[in-house]
Formats: sequence, structure tokens, C-alpha cells
Amino acid sequence: MDTWVYPGSFDPITNGHLDIITRASGLCSKLIVAVGNNSSKNPAFSSEERIELINEAITGMQGIEVVGFSGLLADFMKKTGAKVAIKGLRFISDFEYEFQMALLNKNLVPEVESLFMMTSANYSYLSSLAIRDIARNGGSIEGLVPECIREKVMDKLLSRSKG
Ligand code: ADP
Repeated sequence: MDTWVYPGSFDPITNGHLDIITRASGLCSKLIVAVGNNSSKNPAFSSEERIELINEAITGMQGIEVVGFSGLLADFMKKTGAKVAIKGLRFISDFEYEFQMALLNKNLVPEVESLFMMTSANYSYLSSLAIRDIARNGGSIEGLVPECIREKVMDKLLSRSKG
């Protein structure tokens, strides 16, 4: 069975992420969405919250599992036995970062391939950081995150920004 892993912070999941999840899950038997728990990034949403938001966003979709992980992606890939790590690409800056990560990972786990999927044009400007900035300042995130989680995301970020 071909299992792919889609790693990221998903802080929170955006429509850009959901687009990659939808397209990638159509190309493999099982897609593991791996939610990184890197506390030095000081995420706005806890690991549990990010996992819950993704699970809500993928309701009704088949062949997708959402799990948290900490430490190296290479070790997570070894543990799951997945042979493909799928990444989304938006800008040249994504490419530079992902290129370096792909080569480092190849060194650590030669049997794993990093595959890259271009963003859909209408999501190319979307990032979790943009969502956090807009929501914390009371702007509308309609159309930027899955509709079923919009209110939850807004409530959490607005209440956090009020301290
Ligand atoms: P962000 O950069 O928004 O904080 P993550 O670090 O969680 O997102 O990203 C996880 C993966 O999803 C990375 O491979 C990233 O390049 C990709 N990604 C994020 N946003 C988009 C988008 N709008 N279109 C395509 N890929 C994306």
C-alpha cells in the first residue's frame, strides 16, 4: 500500500493546505497528515487543537489520517514506513527551504522521496501566518480557511489577541 505523509505545522489549517490534502489523497492509498509539535515555534493552537481542526475540515474524506509528531520528519517516516513526503510549494522562498529539507532528509532516509505539489493559483498567497494576522486584527478569514472551522479559528485568535 502506498502511504504518503504530508507534514506541516497547520497552525491553523488553511484552504491552501486542504487543497493539497485533497489533491494528494487522490494519488495515494493513504495520506498521513503529520502535525508537527515543535514547541519552539510557540504555536497559536495546541497540537490537539490543530489535529481537531484538520479532522473537522476533512470530514467525509476517505483514506486520510491525522497524527501529531515531534522530532525529526525522517524518524517519523521510518516509523510509519511511508516512502513519500509530499510538500506544497507557493513561492521561491518555499522552494529554497524545501529544497534544503529534501536533501537533508534524503541523507537521513535515502529510501524516502520528497514530492512537491504546486499550489492552486487561488491559494498561492495563503499561509497560516496570514490567517493569524488577519483574525487577530478582526479581519474576515472567509474563504481562507475551511468554512466549518472558521468561527472556531476566529474565536480563538481574537480572544488570544485580547490577552
Ligand atoms: P504555513 O507555511 O502556512 O505556516 P505549514 O508550515 O503548516 O504552513 O505548511 C505545511 C506544508 O504546506 C508546506 O509544505 C507548505 O509549503 C505547504 N503549504 C502551505 N500553504 C500552502 C498553500 N497555500 N498552497 C500550497 N501549499 C501550501
